[in-house]
Amino acid sequence: MQGHAQLVYPRSWTRGKPTLKGDYITISQPEEYQPYECANLVFDFSGLRTPKDVTAFVGQYGLLKRTEGLEKVTDILAEAAAVRLLFQMVIAIRRVDTSFLRDIWQISDFAKLFEAPPKDDDELLAQASVLVAWTINENLAGVPHGLIPEAAFEVDGVSGSPGIFLWVAYPDNLLQYIYYQLAMTINLKTPLASCTECGRIFKVEHGNQEYCSSRCSNRARIRRFREKRQPGQKQPQ
Ligand SMILES: [Zn+2]
Repeated sequence: MQGHAQLVYPRSWTRGKPTLKGDYITISQPEEYQPYECANLVFDFSGLRTPKDVTAFVGQYGLLKRTEGLEKVTDILAEAAAVRLLFQMVIAIRRVDTSFLRDIWQISDFAKLFEAPPKDDDELLAQASVLVAWTINENLAGVPHGLIPEAAFEVDGVSGSPGIFLWVAYPDNLLQYIYYQLAMTINLKTPLASCTECGRIFKVEHGNQEYCSSRCSNRARIRRFREKRQPGQKQPQ
């Protein structure tokens, strides 16, 4: 069978033991896995800021565009910064945070699409929405879509229900999986926030959640506790 008939199962990807060589990273001991089973992929990616972060990410998810060989760490960090900026723009649009969007008008890709800065906040928000959609679509250009029958899968040893189908993308590489997950997060109106402690973008699970993890909320609580202590006051031994 040819064409879309082959596409019942989305492509797997390869991860492995990461090795950093200067500005390059590679993997050994390759192991296949299914990125669709990794709900935090796009959030983990958007949090990458250092070569050490990239090494941990590649160990968990693999390289971005190839299953073997070398990739440049600075390129991976640049892609992660681009995804992070898209998340920050979506959060700013939702909160009508026009000062953030105005600050990044000159330094991001707005000028590629629009001749002049917006004359008012409504136009700024509309331009930002267009830029977010355009950038994500550019990164998903050529990615086929198709139906997956749930019955073709087993989850925890239980077969999916016949008659239930999912409409999904068939990415060629991990970066396309990341952009597809980003697109779905926006499409599903997933509540998003940036962690007050570490700046990481996360999915808000409850109320006014400020921190991405219990690690960050604990760290913030300890710091507040230390700041509250009177200067010169001694800790009991
Ligand atoms: Zn955090």
